Amino acid sequence: MAISYEDIVKVPKALLHDHLDGGLRPATIVELAADAGHELPTTDSEALGRWFAEAANSGSLERYLETFAHTVAVMQTGPALRRVARECALDLAADGVVYAEVRFAPEQHLEQNLTLDEVVDAVVTGFREGSALAAEAGTPIRVGTLLTAMRHAARSQEIAELAVRHRDTGVVGFDIAGAEAGFPPTRHLDAFEYLQRENFHFTIHAGEAFGLPSIWQAIQWCGADRLGHGVRIVDDITPGNPPVLGRLAAYVRDKRIPLELCPSSNVQTGAAASIADHPIGLLRDLRFRVTVNTDNRLMSGTSMSREMALLVDAFGYGWKELQWFTINAMKSAFIPFDERLKIIDEVIKPAYAKLIG
Ligand SMILES: [Zn+2]
Repeated sequence: MAISYEDIVKVPKALLHDHLDGGLRPATIVELAADAGHELPTTDSEALGRWFAEAANSGSLERYLETFAHTVAVMQTGPALRRVARECALDLAADGVVYAEVRFAPEQHLEQNLTLDEVVDAVVTGFREGSALAAEAGTPIRVGTLLTAMRHAARSQEIAELAVRHRDTGVVGFDIAGAEAGFPPTRHLDAFEYLQRENFHFTIHAGEAFGLPSIWQAIQWCGADRLGHGVRIVDDITPGNPPVLGRLAAYVRDKRIPLELCPSSNVQTGAAASIADHPIGLLRDLRFRVTVNTDNRLMSGTSMSREMALLVDAFGYGWKELQWFTINAMKSAFIPFDERLKIIDEVIKPAYAKLIG
């Protein structure tokens, strides 16, 4: 029996790669923009939702990143950041996500003179409020925060220290993001070495717009725990029966380095031609540590359940595969091992067991 979208919403899901500034409700953007005096392409929330999806469909990462000017513009005060984070937790929980790591770049939220610490406090508080409301509504969720530094900027050390400073109040990891070409992760080596000395976790956006050298640097120079996308690792796999893995692809698979794949987003930025052509099919068959993610729910008009439904349609996946993706994500989470295990054993496995039989 085919799995429907409605069925997928009901099962527990885990999400590792979701941007706070890429997941706002269009109606919230309209309200916050009015408060902030920020001009939008339209103030009709439905039309605005469509505008974001269309602008993101252009096929280039640079153009895709432009849409963030509007979301970031309305996230410049404590109350606005708190509201956006609260709604994010609620929206993910309503979609059946039981564990999420949501990332954002504090340095982009300083236009109204907030300090970096105030920005983080507002977001973490919003996630806590949203999680409490979700639990009351019968859809419990745990949300961890990842702090992102922008790869073209020079604040990565400062942001890494900020993340470590807030590690006991909800920040679970660090990331770098932004246009890949011309801004290799090795520019931020000091920050990554600092994080390693602090026994902290980090992921790096690599192998999305740019290929193998970016993935190689992220892992072998910077020491990334996970790869944000990492989809271009397929460039190191020679098709055949069986396919042949190059040294880097073999290393990524041997070390179980998680790939934070984001199917719809990868298609929109041109990293994959279509969902059916997405390397996730091959990478799953080869048993890489594949996880499924949303990236930017607003820009891609998507959700965790929708991403999984697209994969079910394209690759004929059943509950077994969806459970595998979910457990992969939970195993790769940045929260402590015992807490990961508890979610796997007490939440994920019992729910899927009923469906798999
Ligand atoms: Zn991303």
